[in-house]
Amino acid sequence: ALVRRTVFVTGAVDMEGCPEADRGEVAFIGRSNVGKSSLVNMLTNRKSLAFTSKTPGKTQQFNYFAVNDKPELARQIRYGDDVPGEKDRDSFYIVDLPGFGFAKVTQQLRQQWSDFMDEYLQERETLQAVFHLIDARHGPTDEDIKIMQKVGTILGAKQQAKEHCAKYIIILTKADKNVKNAKSQSNPGKVSNKVMEKLIVTMKENRVGYAPIVLTSSETRLGRDEVWKYLRFAAER
Ligand code: GDP
Repeated sequence: ALVRRTVFVTGAVDMEGCPEADRGEVAFIGRSNVGKSSLVNMLTNRKSLAFTSKTPGKTQQFNYFAVNDKPELARQIRYGDDVPGEKDRDSFYIVDLPGFGFAKVTQQLRQQWSDFMDEYLQERETLQAVFHLIDARHGPTDEDIKIMQKVGTILGAKQQAKEHCAKYIIILTKADKNVKNAKSQSNPGKVSNKVMEKLIVTMKENRVGYAPIVLTSSETRLGRDEVWKYLRFAAER
């Protein structure tokens, strides 16, 4: 897939703050340090995306990034095959959703975040996929289980009601850390049986047993093509 450009658009703290729902979007959720910025940078071919999830004050917002926005810039790169004034047809949003396990926020902020998340999953009609990042070495934490419950409940109800419903995909991050020679092509990453068992059991308990699990590493680029299958789907909404 061709990524020409990724730009930060806005940070939202409620539904009104989200940009116009004029294109597909995918959301990445995971606790801080799980490898979210590295993964998004790897996916979009950036050394350091203006990925603002760590900027003070921005940790509680949903941060919107537009991939392949700005047709005039894309046109410069592709020598004129875009129609002026039209949204680039490959454009979609990547939304960085912070985890809600911040050590230092008040109960009130936590609740606000949780309510926004519910509403977002419920109402954002252009949401095509939710990627939940979990560390391949540790498996789901308590916070991950809460996220799984939330997503499982809301998307599960939508699915049952046959409403449009985002795909839910589990991403295991830092898979190279489990192997001695991470760069080895024959063994680029793995996950222990213990972690995999815990993950599967937790998924079943939260009724998200259907979700695909993608093993990734931002170091070795493991899983890139597989994640891109879902991103392409989002872009072609
Ligand atoms: P974020 O807080 O979720 O955005 O996490 P970062 O992307 O900033 O990563 C946290 C730390 O883990 C950094 O030191 C990264 O270099 C490291 N890291 C992230 N992804 C990988 C990976 O796939 N493999 C390895 N070995 N380290 C990683």
